[in-house]
Amino acid sequence: MPALLRQLAGLGGCTHPIRLDGHRTEYAVDTRTGEIGNVLHHLDSAGLPAGHLLVRCNNRRTTRCAACAEVYRRDTFHLITSGLRGGKGVPERVAAHPRIFATFTAPSFGPVHNRLTGPAGSVRRCRCGALHDQDDPALGTPLDPNTYDYEAAVLWNAHAGPLWRRFSIYLRREVAKRAGLTQRAFREHARVSFAKVAEYQKRGAVHFHAVIRIDGPEGGDTPPPAWATAELLTDAIQAAAVATRVDGPVIDGRAHAFTFGRQLDVRTIRSADFDGGQELTERAVAAYIAKYATKGAETATGALDRPLRFLAELAQLDISDHARQLVRTAWTLGARKDLEHLRLRAWAHMLGFRGHFSTKSRRYSTTLGALRDVRAAWRRAQALAANETDPDTTLVLAHWIYAGTGLTDAEAWLAETLEPAPGTEGEPTHA
Ligand SMILES: [Zn+2]
Ligand SMILES: [Zn+2]
Repeated sequence: MPALLRQLAGLGGCTHPIRLDGHRTEYAVDTRTGEIGNVLHHLDSAGLPAGHLLVRCNNRRTTRCAACAEVYRRDTFHLITSGLRGGKGVPERVAAHPRIFATFTAPSFGPVHNRLTGPAGSVRRCRCGALHDQDDPALGTPLDPNTYDYEAAVLWNAHAGPLWRRFSIYLRREVAKRAGLTQRAFREHARVSFAKVAEYQKRGAVHFHAVIRIDGPEGGDTPPPAWATAELLTDAIQAAAVATRVDGPVIDGRAHAFTFGRQLDVRTIRSADFDGGQELTERAVAAYIAKYATKGAETATGALDRPLRFLAELAQLDISDHARQLVRTAWTLGARKDLEHLRLRAWAHMLGFRGHFSTKSRRYSTTLGALRDVRAAWRRAQALAANETDPDTTLVLAHWIYAGTGLTDAEAWLAETLEPAPGTEGEPTHA
């Protein structure tokens, strides 16, 4: 039993591990002759307490695996933070570059129940006449489901990715224009980099939160030109967001076109040194983005966090009528040959959105892959310290095949008795 507990503890709280069948053998290698010598270490899955090698699932979503999503959230936090104040291979000078935090919303598809907060925390009445409570499930749902534009709502989500790509092109153009440069010349003076995350509003529309930064021509290593100010960047973001438009399909004689909503929030990010309690700090921005990186459409759909195989499954789900109608609309539009490229059935559970949840431009900061590599290298170093095997003088032969997912009931029960894995320090655990 202690051996099984030890194996489960190695999962760091992952509740849906990948089970692998196979073996791994480490041989000593003579560094002078290159000959393979003794077996130093042999691992066979059949000999493991759980009968398989168990590997973390690494799922990003909190609803799927809380422990792995937490690792992802911390990595995203570091990724965003390093782009804001340096670290993890990014120079600290980026903290002095103009940096903006912007939120891009979808347009209206019909009036929804809302809770408008006025000055001093006062709450105004919704159009329906009610004073909605903060956790009222009616919030974000249409006042009149019969007139709500479900078709446009789903198609907007399906075009949100291309809309962002077009915006990023327009943004560089608008920044160049304000600097009095042609786009070609612009690249020799400055770079615009960003990191963004998608979030679902209660009404089921995707919106984007983005950190946008101006650097010198070589990215974060080089100082931005003198004209590059937070004010100029703010102005360029607003102009580019208004100009961005993507033409969509023509459905039953109706030509769809997609733009961002009028609600655009653009704020300058300050260093903690300037924080008077009101300013938007690097830490707050990174925590905010990292939090949303571990969510899917569940904000709007509740329990639905994986693809549907049949529309009939929808009837059994405990989701709101509004979410159900969005999913059904995506499913129905997904049958159309002319919309095949949008893969609306495969992405119906995401209400049509098939983009990446968090993306960044190449020069923004480090990558999630690089952070994982560092962690893997650290684990290897730990193992080395424990086993005293040297990667330069050992040969590893391994063969693994997939044997399933998850824990047995007994393993799950045992795993629950384990303490949560100790976390990394220096970051907020709850954002
Ligand atoms: Zn997991
Ligand atoms: Zn209302």
